[in-house]
Amino acid sequence: MARVLFLGGLGRSGTTLVERLLGELPSVCALGEIVHLWQRDVRDNERCGCGARFAACTFWKRVGELAFHGWANVDVERVHALRDAVERTRFIPRLAADRLPRELLLQVREYAGFYTRVYTAAAEVSGAQVVVDSSKHSALAHVLRWAGGIDLRVVHVVRDARGVAYSWTKTVARPETDGSDEMTRYSPGRSALLWNAHNAAFGLLARRGVPVRRIRYEQFLADPRGALTSLADFAELPISEADLAFVGDGHADLGVGHSAAGNPMRFTVGRLPLRRDDAWVRALPDKQRRLVGTVCGPMLRAYGYPLNVKEA
Ligand SMILES: [Zn+2]
Repeated sequence: MARVLFLGGLGRSGTTLVERLLGELPSVCALGEIVHLWQRDVRDNERCGCGARFAACTFWKRVGELAFHGWANVDVERVHALRDAVERTRFIPRLAADRLPRELLLQVREYAGFYTRVYTAAAEVSGAQVVVDSSKHSALAHVLRWAGGIDLRVVHVVRDARGVAYSWTKTVARPETDGSDEMTRYSPGRSALLWNAHNAAFGLLARRGVPVRRIRYEQFLADPRGALTSLADFAELPISEADLAFVGDGHADLGVGHSAAGNPMRFTVGRLPLRRDDAWVRALPDKQRRLVGTVCGPMLRAYGYPLNVKEA
């Protein structure tokens, strides 16, 4: 049974960074955001983290053969139809129930089946004990709760809502499309509401019995070795001090990975600076900072974030 670490949280919370570092541990295979694999890779043949086009990457070619006898056999229309039917944030209360109506359960299992086949094949092709899916979406994590045949563990990555809000206002190009496309942007008010909803959804998932380990982006960067040791423990992965040698003082040395989709950081090879991005403390306008602080106040406090942050 494939052991799956699902990295969850609202986008711009640092999930890609956590995934890249986890991917350097022995016996871990980081897959990127599988939620986007169907459209961006299977259909649009975008770039893998290794730099090759998806169809030309030998790792993903083997995974596709093992999982589906070739990617050409995946009905992407069907995957999208199922996603629209079951994987929406507004469906989370239904997915969090003790039982699902039979028709919904069948759709949920069929949709989850596409993911579990990828996880299982990736574990076999890589020989890794743990595969990492950094899809982030809380609704997908709730769907996977109903999947059979995988050992699902969820890492819930939380970042200060004001840092997340600031990040969503910035323009970022998507290099996998050769710069012709930009990543989505949200207003601070919108991202504050999403922050509450997605973080609450992971709390709910934990109350439904799924193993969920919450980590704060800021703490992860303050002590990456300690955080990785704790996550390896959560994944029941034995690691030694030497396995963490790629993490230096303020940087990490990354090898080539096969992340299928996600943040541009998935292409980074070599030295990656490990610096906490707190530009928002200076750059997020007061009015927006107060708005996000008010909307997200109760959960920011619950996660241990100070509501008054002064410029250093
Ligand atoms: Zn690749």
